[in-house]
Amino acid sequence: MKLIFLGAPGAGKGTHATKVKADYALPHISTGDIFRANLKEGTPLGLKAKGYMDKGELVPDELVIDLVKDRLTWPDCQNGYILDGFPRTIKQAEALDSFQDIDAVINLVLDDETIIRRVSGRRMCSCGATYNVELLGGKTTCEKCGKELYQREDDKGDTVRTRLEVYNRDTAPLIAYYRNKNLLTDIDCNGKSIDEVYQAICNELDKI
Ligand code: ADP
Ligand code: ZN
Repeated sequence: MKLIFLGAPGAGKGTHATKVKADYALPHISTGDIFRANLKEGTPLGLKAKGYMDKGELVPDELVIDLVKDRLTWPDCQNGYILDGFPRTIKQAEALDSFQDIDAVINLVLDDETIIRRVSGRRMCSCGATYNVELLGGKTTCEKCGKELYQREDDKGDTVRTRLEVYNRDTAPLIAYYRNKNLLTDIDCNGKSIDEVYQAICNELDKI
């Protein structure tokens, strides 16, 4: 299964992609994670992406497209994959169409108010776990590994709003793009628990 997870920042793409990865044995390809890993290692790609990411803006299409095109040639992508955070513009979607056939696009729908709250409250661990302050009850360390949690630079302050604006301007048009190709399924995440949303996603994937 070749899947795309679409949705605003904080809608739960990463959370659910991680579960699908485990249950359906598909690689989870998050362009945000790839850029952050490059940044940490100080690679030329990471350095190029940093300025855009810190401001909440998109990294230029050329950089992202070449990266994903290469990643999808790896052997682990033979039987499919989950794309999380790509495509993010129509240009990226058209490029992807030129080298891959996608089976389904899962669109996680969530109101703006909840998005802002979730992203601002998100906390990360270097082991990959993510949390939300609202559910942490004052704890500041990771349940899985005990390390201190931190906030992503672009989850702070006004950058969250910039990301939402960028999403609405550049990425939301992909909803119509994939709906027209009959590939899109909307999953309403408002007022739903992670388990309820995940169940809805599995119901869709099991039809493919
Ligand atoms: P989000 O929580 O907003 O979904 P991600 O971790 O997917 O965040 O992405 C973080 C940042 O990485 C984005 O704000 C953007 O700067 C950059 N980025 C990730 N994927 C792409 C992409 N496909 N095109 C352009 N920029 C991207
Ligand atoms: Zn941890």
